[in-house]
Amino acid sequence: MSIPRLLVLSLGGTITMTAGAGGGISPTLGAAELVAAVPGLGELAQIEARSPLKVGSASLTLENIAAVAAEIRAGFAQGFDGALVIQGTDTIEETAFALDLLVGDERPVVVVGAMRGPQQPGADGPANLLAAALVATSEAARGLGTLVVMNDEIHAARFVRKAHTALTSAFVSEMAGPLGLVAEGRVRLLARVARPALPTLEAGLAALPPVALLKIAMGDDGRVLRAVPGLGFAGLVIEGAGAGHVPGVMAESLGEVAAHMPVVLASRTLAGPVFERTYAYPGSEIDLLARGALSAGLLTGVKARLLLTLALAAGWDRAALARAFAAYG
Ligand code: ASP
Repeated sequence: MSIPRLLVLSLGGTITMTAGAGGGISPTLGAAELVAAVPGLGELAQIEARSPLKVGSASLTLENIAAVAAEIRAGFAQGFDGALVIQGTDTIEETAFALDLLVGDERPVVVVGAMRGPQQPGADGPANLLAAALVATSEAARGLGTLVVMNDEIHAARFVRKAHTALTSAFVSEMAGPLGLVAEGRVRLLARVARPALPTLEAGLAALPPVALLKIAMGDDGRVLRAVPGLGFAGLVIEGAGAGHVPGVMAESLGEVAAHMPVVLASRTLAGPVFERTYAYPGSEIDLLARGALSAGLLTGVKARLLLTLALAAGWDRAALARAFAAYG
């Protein structure tokens, strides 16, 4: 029986980081070294290991991820059965969601990292890598889009987020729970989520428009919000309080900004939908939607920003943007 072909792309992150002379860890290892260090991984799949980047994941850009998506699409066209992206955990939720939007294929794409470096006691990288490879080569994971596998749990790109700075259990999907787990070397899927059928987002990737993300805090007087149009941004995502609220003093400015560029309203609670028809005071969701803001639905601010950036790059109009966010509602 032939074993599956797996494309492994390493971008850096703690999983690749070793100690240098000056103290502290930084990315040094590449995909081939990581794969070679995991017992059993070589027998699981015929692996092609590539290391396009070696960076801390906060330095990754959407342009980098668009290039990774293109490499995966090309790999699938050449017959790979799955793809594994290794990177830092800090921005895994963004990479995974961007790949989910950019790689339209039934075959699994899995993003994985580690909370502990390879030289630390209890390093979780090898176990995460093996579990992620099992998922990326499994029939059961087909059609689920991009997944994140950490701590033996399988998460959907649209729900997962890093919710702790240190624990190996840092990754959660509060709104849906993990889709499944890996135990005894077996992939067990407990739930499936349908991916919204969006028009292609591959157009315009050469010139991604800048989209700002603004988190609202108590007492915000709106001066950053009012500065956004003058800073060259093409769109804005606001992480409002609660169900999508801003201080009343900001409401008028928000309407003015929304007249210039798409403004998408998410929630800084990072779980639950942005409301649409409950609160009616100045700065409430009813007020802001009436002033032209679009709802991010169930997407967090960082994921709404990725969707807005890619949709603007593809030239979508306001109606298409509204439909796309509604699909995540
Ligand atoms: N703490 C990070 C990690 O887990 C560093 C990074 O995201 O690159 O990999």
